[in-house]
Amino acid sequence: MADTKNNKCAHRLCSCIAPADSKYCSTYCEAAKDTTDIACGCEHAGCTGSV
Ligand SMILES: [Zn+2]
Ligand SMILES: [Zn+2]
Repeated sequence: MADTKNNKCAHRLCSCIAPADSKYCSTYCEAAKDTTDIACGCEHAGCTGSV
């Protein structure tokens, strides 16, 4: 199997790829982990913002 190149953001609604040194693609997602957002608001291009 490959390594951890596909490091998806840990925010459950976010479809972005996080940097190798972080579980989240942005500070938005990191801050949102304790909230019950209905959509991702990281505003990254390509983020679907929902499941
Ligand atoms: Zn996102
Ligand atoms: Zn994210």
